[in-house]
Amino acid sequence: MANVIAVDGPSGAGKSSVSRLVGKRLGYLHVDSGALYRIMTWQALERGVNVDDPAAVASFAQEVEIEYRPEGGAVAYYVNGSAPGDRIRMPEINANASKVATVKEVRERITGMLRDMAKLGNLVVEGRDIATAVFPDSPARFYLTASAEARARRRRKEEIDKGVANQSEEAVMASLLARDHIDSTRRHAPLRKADGAMEIDSSDMTLEEVVETVINALPEGWAQ
Ligand code: C5P
Repeated sequence: MANVIAVDGPSGAGKSSVSRLVGKRLGYLHVDSGALYRIMTWQALERGVNVDDPAAVASFAQEVEIEYRPEGGAVAYYVNGSAPGDRIRMPEINANASKVATVKEVRERITGMLRDMAKLGNLVVEGRDIATAVFPDSPARFYLTASAEARARRRRKEEIDKGVANQSEEAVMASLLARDHIDSTRRHAPLRKADGAMEIDSSDMTLEEVVETVINALPEGWAQ
């Protein structure tokens, strides 16, 4: 069985940067589970599925074909042969992904894909329910947090750097908090810290410090 490092936390807590770097240091594949929920949302919107109708989203979830393969240290996703790229980072996707993620059939489909990825090798998987629902038996489970201000600042900078949006910090924060609310109050696999997971508040930490904290807390023999 492959080693799986599980990293959960709210939007903008730094999960992606930390997971990517931990993966690079250890030679583990980085898995961005949020991108799968974003792909589902993007495809649903593209094909005119009403994302406010859980039954429509549930049946659509079975149809979407997502391929994945290891590429450059991460698991890369393809839809109809092409990489989604920054199309899944747009504000319209931010605004609808959490809604799509409340649908049980969407979660089951993505959970199955994520578990299947363990056959590709050792993984560092980031998301909202990785330590609680997808890989609850992993001995390396982390819950990354940061203040709402720090998270909004980081997410805004990311959007500007990527050229996908230039919103005010207030607008970014409102969107983050709205998503946090939906994610932590939904019925199926809500966002919460898993029992026994290590909590790291990254508000006043550098990326390097967070990466070190994670690596130092891994079970014996995982960080070689
Ligand atoms: O991490 P990211 O912001 O890309 O995730 C987009 C959305 O996907 C989240 O707001 C959440 O609703 C959903 N998600 C989830 N479970 C995960 C990862 C993401 O419900 N493991």
